[in-house]
Amino acid sequence: MRIDIITIFPGYFAPLGMSLIGKAALRGDVQITVHDLRDWSHDAHRTVDDTPYGGGPGMVMKPEPWGEALDAATAADGPAPRLVVPAPSGALFTQQTAAGYAREPRLVFACGRYEGIDARVVDEARTRMAVDEVSIGDYVLAGGEAAVLVMVEAVCRLVPGVLGNAASVADDSFGGSGDPGVAAPADAGRPEAAPPAGGARRAATDGCGSGMAGLLEGPVYTKPRVWRGREVPPVLLSGDHGAIARWRRDAALSRTAAMRPELIHRLDPASLNDRDREVLSRAGFPMHPEDMAH
Ligand code: SAM
Repeated sequence: MRIDIITIFPGYFAPLGMSLIGKAALRGDVQITVHDLRDWSHDAHRTVDDTPYGGGPGMVMKPEPWGEALDAATAADGPAPRLVVPAPSGALFTQQTAAGYAREPRLVFACGRYEGIDARVVDEARTRMAVDEVSIGDYVLAGGEAAVLVMVEAVCRLVPGVLGNAASVADDSFGGSGDPGVAAPADAGRPEAAPPAGGARRAATDGCGSGMAGLLEGPVYTKPRVWRGREVPPVLLSGDHGAIARWRRDAALSRTAAMRPELIHRLDPASLNDRDREVLSRAGFPMHPEDMAH
């Protein structure tokens, strides 16, 4: 995957040289290029902003440098790019968005500052490439850089080869929502189903159809078995992969019901078995699929 980022603060992206993404870049699994928007300014002060038409506070990013920067960043041979413009007024970025972007061969991110980018830049770009205006949440940042860091990290960890253990993606919160590196099983079975060889993690994935699809992941534990008098849930030590998968599914349903009840309403009732409905009922949600379908 090729990623181009256009910004007035190239130094903001130094963290992309670290950790998983830094290693993926060294291996060539992702190729990230950061461009300084001011390289396409045309005055001694390298100006990229001006006062807003219609008055009002703040400054607006000028269209000329943006137009030229996008021309340059998208000019290279190769697959058509998708332009991603972070904006608090954009569509919400989710794990599904990340999975979709991970399948794109080429992404260009345009980091706005001040009151944003002159709207004609996006209008004009739409005539020659796919363009998404995307928000990372209902709050306002000072600029698009932090939002792009978030998106690039969420996307790159879904690019095949970037994560050491691709199966862990399907176990993540919201997992199985289209991860390109982990094939979703066709049968969309149940946690009670006989687990495949490979352990409880795969069992949780395969047995629940698409892992944590639509759910938050439950608690996780590691050694020691007892810490400050607190024991790891015994089922996790049982070696019974089916029971472990069921426990994880129960924990995910309970946590989602408690923390993000709106996600429970969005579940496909057909994806729930009797045990799921029992767990949800205890968490205060209706047992019957038809009651949940709204
Ligand atoms: N006046 C704009 C508005 O109210 O929609 C906010 C501009 S904000 C101060 C400057 C830049 O930060 C935006 O152009 C965008 O690139 C970025 N930004 C701020 N909040 C964001 C969010 N929640 N998601 C994505 N980008 C955001």
